[in-house]
Amino acid sequence: MQYKYLSNKDRKRMNFQKKVLRNINRTMRWTFTVMALIIVFAFGTVAFYSIVDGKNEGCAMEDSSFDSRKQDTDFLVNKDKELEKTLECEQSISDAEHEREDAVNKSEMADFSQWNKTCPPELIIVNGNNAIPEGYNVDIKVCRGKEIGILAAEKLEEMIQCAAKEGIVLWISSGYRSVKYQGKLFDRQVQREMAKGNSQDKAEKLAQTVVARPGRSEHNTGLAVDFNGVRDDFYKTKEYKWLMDHAAEFGFIERYQEKWADKTGVVYEPWHFRYVGVGYAEKIKESNLCLESYVEKNLM
Ligand SMILES: [Zn+2]
Repeated sequence: MQYKYLSNKDRKRMNFQKKVLRNINRTMRWTFTVMALIIVFAFGTVAFYSIVDGKNEGCAMEDSSFDSRKQDTDFLVNKDKELEKTLECEQSISDAEHEREDAVNKSEMADFSQWNKTCPPELIIVNGNNAIPEGYNVDIKVCRGKEIGILAAEKLEEMIQCAAKEGIVLWISSGYRSVKYQGKLFDRQVQREMAKGNSQDKAEKLAQTVVARPGRSEHNTGLAVDFNGVRDDFYKTKEYKWLMDHAAEFGFIERYQEKWADKTGVVYEPWHFRYVGVGYAEKIKESNLCLESYVEKNLM
């Protein structure tokens, strides 16, 4: 009716315009719907991954969760990287240092095999002279992408969080190592020494000055932690200073000072800390003794 007074040509044009408008309208509606779907999907993805990442920052308890499966996969990848990194660090040790470490290893170190049978689990002593007792079971938790003994994991997480609040960034380079993995580390180091022309016997002796034999690394207990990339100059950092001031509050002690080398069999590793429980950590720190000497003098 409204086109009654229009010419045929105008009516056609009007109809055409109407059709175009209708098509534009429909296209816009579709575009908006599709865009809305994309936005919802994008937000969903971001939210999902931020939840997963958020959980990854803490210690994962349930082994069956997707979260810890993802961590496990990351962990396996990281483990090989860690192996390479550890060996790289150790390669930089000069022959003079080899000899020095060798001398330390020959020193008289106490026998803790009886102590290890009855001691509180957090006070077990494992070193070049004292292997981890056979069949010793270590319960493991994944903390910040690394495996840590369950005894130490909670306090470690708490310590890292407290440090972070004070602007101190602590990250775990190495935590628990299975005896089998320690064996792999050791064997690879032996191969490297043999590649330099050393006999098997000599290669093994040299290797053990830089990589503990399987079962003789404190990392096999799950109670030892190496921090921030295992660097010789770690002792110069504010992170190290913070650890020296506060680690004992969380049950950790510095393990390898140069002056204790005769007792520990390790020259100096400022990055290596050991969980002994809050009560003992404060006492051991106060005593100014290494773990071996403290136990010998006060607990055996
Ligand atoms: Zn270590």
